[in-house]
Amino acid sequence: MSEDWLIYKEFRFEAAHQLPHHDGKCRRLHGHSWVGRVYVSGNTLIQDGPKQGMIMDYADIKAYVYPLVEDYLDHYNLNDTTGLENPTSEEIARWVFDKLEEAGLAGLHSVEIRETCTAGCRYQRAP
Ligand SMILES: [Zn+2]
Repeated sequence: MSEDWLIYKEFRFEAAHQLPHHDGKCRRLHGHSWVGRVYVSGNTLIQDGPKQGMIMDYADIKAYVYPLVEDYLDHYNLNDTTGLENPTSEEIARWVFDKLEEAGLAGLHSVEIRETCTAGCRYQRAP
């Protein structure tokens, strides 16, 4: 039998961005209440100890995400802090994924970024 789990930890940040190539109002500097999710996958549960029955403790995912939120995302202009010239949701999702991968988050599956209640994206790398 093969089985797997996909768990996620949500994070939020308030930030500005502008899309210099856009042909509408997103060209102007503006802000969003962004919501992100980090997805971690696994096919075995931890067998003993305080994390028994988990793929990973949600607090451990948070420990990877929180420094990014504090140092690059929350109450910043994303064009400045991420180095992205055109920080769309898609580009930001990939940027967060790369940072988490660089930091060594095991089981990293995908990163979701929502810029409004009804619009967002999810980035994952082909295996
Ligand atoms: Zn926007």
